[in-house]
Amino acid sequence: MVDRPLTLMAVHAHPDDEATGTGGVLARYAAEGVRTVLVTCTDGACGDAPGGVKPGEPGHDPEAVAALRRTELEASCRVLKVSDLELLGYGDSGMMGWPQNSAPGSFWSIPVAEAAERLAELMRYYQPDVVVTYDENGFYGHPDHIQAHRITMAAVEPTGIPAKVYWTTAPRSAMAEFGRIMAELGADWEIPDTDASEGSEGSGGSESSGLAEPPIGLPDDEISTWVDVAQFGERKFEALAAHASQSENIFFLNLGVERFIQLMGTETFVRVRDSTGAPLPEKDLFAGLR
Ligand SMILES: [Zn+2]
Repeated sequence: MVDRPLTLMAVHAHPDDEATGTGGVLARYAAEGVRTVLVTCTDGACGDAPGGVKPGEPGHDPEAVAALRRTELEASCRVLKVSDLELLGYGDSGMMGWPQNSAPGSFWSIPVAEAAERLAELMRYYQPDVVVTYDENGFYGHPDHIQAHRITMAAVEPTGIPAKVYWTTAPRSAMAEFGRIMAELGADWEIPDTDASEGSEGSGGSESSGLAEPPIGLPDDEISTWVDVAQFGERKFEALAAHASQSENIFFLNLGVERFIQLMGTETFVRVRDSTGAPLPEKDLFAGLR
């Protein structure tokens, strides 16, 4: 074995996805002595301004939003004990079809190879054993999620560095349960659909734009990796609370910590690259590596 710490690298589109998507594994593996590297690709400037003000509405200053979200991201990283935060600093592309998709410097408008090379440089530096990002649909069709997926896979190929690569996913069974509980709580919650992708003119050249998107999440038997993070549920909740400027997060926070842990106590992944031969299904992203 090489004399360096086991390393997890999570590649996310914007501030807050590190908490919702991978807050549990980031906290858990940090506690186990793994070095945790978070790469956040954009500044999140298309997020909400305080008070739920949306881009383009009076009172939404993209620069101020980016600054606030950076502060929130740093707070979340402290909670999750992320050891290294790397910001690629691209502009937030907004939702599919927004004019921000093609704004100069927007992540969606950057050639994949160009951003992938910057990420590959970080992989050469950190030598991650495990890399985690979104699936090819960016979980629900968000352009910057899709782009984060693309640059990650494009950086993995030539470097060949990570022994294991995972895409985040959600089991359909849990999503149904989640919808039921939210309905019970009287929340107007639906599985996020992909309406925003209609009429897309994204310059990133998504082949799927305007076509039927694949459904969100996976049938349980297609999930390769189930990581128990219940012990770190409170951390994850607290990390998400650091991103309270974003209205979707308030929504999760309204669940209360106990309910949140019940629903979010397991993080699920699909293993898409592996050189360890660890048998599936597995319960540990580092199975076969220690
Ligand atoms: Zn996101």
